[in-house]
Amino acid sequence: MEFRRVVALAALSIAFTPAARAAQPFSEAMVSITFDDGESSQYLSRAVFAQYGYHATYFPVSDAISSWGAFFVANQLKDLAADGHEIGSHTLDHADLTLLNDADLDRQLRVSRLDLMAKLGLPDVKGFCYPYGNFNARVEQAVAQYYRYARTTEPYYNFRDTDPYLLGSFDCNNSTTLAQLTSKVDVALANKSWVVFHFHALTTAPSTERYSCMVSTLASLVDYVAQKNLKVVTIGEGVALMTEAPAAPPQLTLVSPTSGPPAGGTTVTLTGTGFQSGATVVMGGVAASVTSVTSTRIVAVTPAHAAGPVAVTVTNPDATSATAANAFTYVALVPSSEPFAEGMVSITFDDGDKTQYLSRAVLAQYGYHATYFLISDSLSSWSDFFTISQVLDLAADRHEIGSHTLDHVDLTQLSDADLDRELSGSRSALMAKLGLPDVQSFSYPYGNFDSRVEQAVARYYRVARTNEPW
Ligand SMILES: [Zn+2]
Repeated sequence: MEFRRVVALAALSIAFTPAARAAQPFSEAMVSITFDDGESSQYLSRAVFAQYGYHATYFPVSDAISSWGAFFVANQLKDLAADGHEIGSHTLDHADLTLLNDADLDRQLRVSRLDLMAKLGLPDVKGFCYPYGNFNARVEQAVAQYYRYARTTEPYYNFRDTDPYLLGSFDCNNSTTLAQLTSKVDVALANKSWVVFHFHALTTAPSTERYSCMVSTLASLVDYVAQKNLKVVTIGEGVALMTEAPAAPPQLTLVSPTSGPPAGGTTVTLTGTGFQSGATVVMGGVAASVTSVTSTRIVAVTPAHAAGPVAVTVTNPDATSATAANAFTYVALVPSSEPFAEGMVSITFDDGDKTQYLSRAVLAQYGYHATYFLISDSLSSWSDFFTISQVLDLAADRHEIGSHTLDHVDLTQLSDADLDRELSGSRSALMAKLGLPDVQSFSYPYGNFDSRVEQAVARYYRVARTNEPW
């Protein structure tokens, strides 16, 4: 069309770059694809977007609808609106608004909006696009009387603080390469900005018409955006996100459990608010492996770290973070290498298998005392296990009786309530069944423990023996 040739010259007259003022990033990068003028070849884009469920914004010239050859008929635009695409205004007849008197300027803006609503059955039209990309302060103010935003052809990225009546956009014409388009997507991803592209005619074969682009290039761009998992918005949706309150920074209120071994591998739950998908966790300066993130709960696995207390930091993808000082303590499983006054040996027996009664004579020969860790439910109940009277014999010989839970469960797999029942219940059962004044020692079934289990054991017992070979 004739009016397209004027664009390049008009663009040269615009000397300022509002982009320099804008720098507040969005919570995530966004992309919008827009179509100017309303040429009917743009209908080819419908199938491309439908494949991904993306929505674009179309700025048709309202007089052209169902009137000018090679431009949209009303039913085509109705199809696009029904698919969820946005329709905005591009004036009545593509006039250069900077050249109009106030009355004509008002008519182009006001009547084109009403015409679109009437012709397409739309409840509202909130978006506008400057013909030839031409505007000035008077035009911008007039547009603001009828529209929520306006898109320019100025090639810059939009941020939260970009003037919504001076939205930048990048041109896609017959010499634009896919790499040029995808590199702009990459920039938007890197600086969390909103990149807008504008297309004119779509072609199925290469064209010498400058204001045209291959539909295959559009399809490749859309596919790249999908691969990069970018948020795709209409211009109206993007503008709404500019005024949305910034995401609150995360708060970290609880880390549980609060300790684990220096080897790492402890599963910890972080409780708080404002956690975002993609949040990272650092413990004592080392990255933890994040298992899952909800807005209030992060599950992570501790990294290896030297013994001692460490800070836990949650960092959201928008770079906001929360730190809890000394929230986790790495506790060495081998507490010290400080020697005893002399070497010592202990002999212990697990489970309470009745064959262990054979040890009684061996130990009696030397007057040595061993420790027997019994499953309290088994006494006089399970075949092949000690009877109560056998254990009373051992206790009378001054051997120590310790607990090995009620029924030999893997404590790391239990709820807090069941864990507590296994520990307190087995201790009081041994004391009751055997008439012991106290039971102070514990042995972990299967040798399985974690810091939560260890803390629970410490509520009822003085010591706990593992199967760790040290
Ligand atoms: Zn145009």
